[in-house]
Amino acid sequence: VKPAPFDYHRAVSVDDAVDALATTGGKVLAGGQSLVPLMSMRLASPSALVDINHVGGLSDVTVDRDRVRIGALTRHRQLELNDSAYRANTLLRQAVTSVAHETIRNRGTTVGSLVHADPAAEMPAVLRLLGGSVDVVSRERGARTIGADELFVGPLESALAPDELAVSAAFPNPPPGAGTAWVELSRRHGDYALVGAGAVVETDGDVVSSARVGLISVGSTPVVVDVTAAAAGSSYRDVDWTDAQALVEESIDPETDIHASADYRRQLARVLATRALGEATRRAGR
Ligand SMILES: Cc1cc2nc3c(=O)[nH]c(=O)nc-3n(C[C@H](O)[C@H](O)[C@H](O)COP(=O)(O)OP(=O)(O)OC[C@H]3O[C@@H](n4cnc5c(N)ncnc54)[C@H](O)[C@@H]3O)c2cc1C
Repeated sequence: VKPAPFDYHRAVSVDDAVDALATTGGKVLAGGQSLVPLMSMRLASPSALVDINHVGGLSDVTVDRDRVRIGALTRHRQLELNDSAYRANTLLRQAVTSVAHETIRNRGTTVGSLVHADPAAEMPAVLRLLGGSVDVVSRERGARTIGADELFVGPLESALAPDELAVSAAFPNPPPGAGTAWVELSRRHGDYALVGAGAVVETDGDVVSSARVGLISVGSTPVVVDVTAAAAGSSYRDVDWTDAQALVEESIDPETDIHASADYRRQLARVLATRALGEATRRAGR
């Protein structure tokens, strides 16, 4: 199937892009890896596309002590291959390598994935787990920052207004010594995960002092659960995550679809959360 007819605007600057969004009521075209298939299936029929691929200055990955900031045109693969981003923030590479296949990661943008807000996507959960944010701009209202807790409104629905362009996203670095991990299960490598889980665990000496887990494909938005209370005080060598599993189960609301039943997803969430927490704990403090 071919997309319905649309106007095309090739933006040359951020100002030009937000002008075009305001005047055409169109949609941003970034990597096109989600939008174009939706248009081809006629599940989306925007009247215009505002192509930002030729806007300069949107591809940078900036790594500092506190965070990794990426531009709207940073491709998943670019983030994956950036060694200084990995050293500062291990969870980014751990998770982004599970996003689709290399060919899709070569083109798809991480910021595009955040705005697209697919509850099965990895990077929205990572943004929430790390407490990150997205910077957006519009012609009428200027710039604002949207925190991850407000960004994901529902399935394929983010808090951006139709005339807003996301220009960058900031992923705070886990505290020094924190351990991180990402695990997921999909039918084939590169498919969307049936369930995925990421974890950030901090230790104080031998003892777990903080533990958080983020989950995908278990609700209408990515879910983050603070399971510190279930593990705090345990030695990192021997944590019993049973209470954490119960907290995870209380926080999720998976659905049955053609890929898996809700019960199977609930079971996977318990198992994968435990695995992610275990791996992150082994890496913490080392
Ligand atoms: C076969 C296949 C498998 C995939 N598997 C996975 C997977 O396992 N995990 C995963 O996370 N993703 C997966 N994806 C999606 C992929 O990660 C996309 O790249 C990503 O979701 C969207 O990024 P994009 O740059 O391609 O955005 P586009 O497709 O260009 O845009 C997506 C949406 O976001 C909006 N948008 C994009 N950028 C901006 C911006 N800067 N400001 C405002 N609005 C913007 C667009 O208007 C559109 O509504 C898969 C895609 C395919 C085709």
